[in-house]
Amino acid sequence: MLEDKNTQKTSLADLGEFGLINHITKYFKIENASTVTGIGDDAAVLDASEKQTLVTTDLLIEGVHFDLSYMPLKHLGYKAVMVNLSDVYAMNGTAEQITVSIAVSNRFPLEAIEELYSGIQLACETYKVDLVGGDTTSSTKGILISVTAIGKVEKEDIVLRSGAKETDLIVVSGDLGAAYLGLQVLEREKQVFNVDPNNQPDLDSYTYLIERQLKPEARRDVAGFLKELAIKPTAMIDISDGLSSEIMHICSQSKVGCKIYEEKLPLDPQVISACEEFNLDSTMVALSGGEDYELLFTVPIADFEAIKGNPNFSIIGHITAENQGLNLVTRAGQEIELKAQGWNATKEV
Ligand code: ADP
Ligand code: MG
Repeated sequence: MLEDKNTQKTSLADLGEFGLINHITKYFKIENASTVTGIGDDAAVLDASEKQTLVTTDLLIEGVHFDLSYMPLKHLGYKAVMVNLSDVYAMNGTAEQITVSIAVSNRFPLEAIEELYSGIQLACETYKVDLVGGDTTSSTKGILISVTAIGKVEKEDIVLRSGAKETDLIVVSGDLGAAYLGLQVLEREKQVFNVDPNNQPDLDSYTYLIERQLKPEARRDVAGFLKELAIKPTAMIDISDGLSSEIMHICSQSKVGCKIYEEKLPLDPQVISACEEFNLDSTMVALSGGEDYELLFTVPIADFEAIKGNPNFSIIGHITAENQGLNLVTRAGQEIELKAQGWNATKEV
């Protein structure tokens, strides 16, 4: 996991807005040819080339989307970038630039903003995106961060939510439910800590879950895997709110139904054991958990052979006619209607 160690406190007021912007952005390097000029002018200049431009944005608010008592600022910065890159990858595109806007109250010293930006910088370096601008302002309470990602895609490579066809296979990358359980573990530790601050939690058996919650990775690699297999998905979406809710978006926008098989849902062993411990149904967690940032996509049935043995992907069901509705086939073979959400994992409003 990322480190978050900063004990010094320098007041933001002493630095001033321009001093702050300079200070936090000076270590960022431009890596993409499409970035003509970045930070420092009234607007960044990007070279649009022949490709189509993708633009996506997300706003994260303290107390609504994250809790700083267990979310270190460096992780917050990293995650704020990931959630946006994930949206670009879900269009089958490449992310090349981001802008970052922050509002911070005077409760935060400069060192806190440095931590936040070290996470943003790590994300930029790892995912080869350029920070090209943003805005900095104050808030009366708490911290708010908004990231916009800009990407590119060849016109013929764009994958929308609306292209799924009857008989298509439904595929998911990675595994599901871990980020939600990571949040449950962290919430529980917070309660324990509130009762007894000397209690040292033993989190060894939850490392994967906590990592998935605090340091999610956007699936930049999936587009490449699919290209290698010569597969173009018919529809794609990233899993931010939970599998059920995302498959609903694909089905409603594609005007189709679906069948998802409970036994096919990919679960990490830590998810299974944590579900037992928390007395949660692992299928519910996989369907409604959210924040996994995996990609959910549909492919023509002709691609079955190419995709079935691939360790990065699981085939979890298939697309049906719209009038069949959205269904989950249980391990016992019973069909039940898919519901958007069993509970609200991400505190999204
Ligand atoms: P303006 O007044 O023209 O909006 P600003 O003074 O707000 O410009 O910003 C100066 C430059 O710094 C711009 O290039 C802007 O995009 C960039 N910038 C401002 N705040 C941030 C931030 N939090 N992160 C990254 N870049 C920023
Ligand atoms: Mg500004």
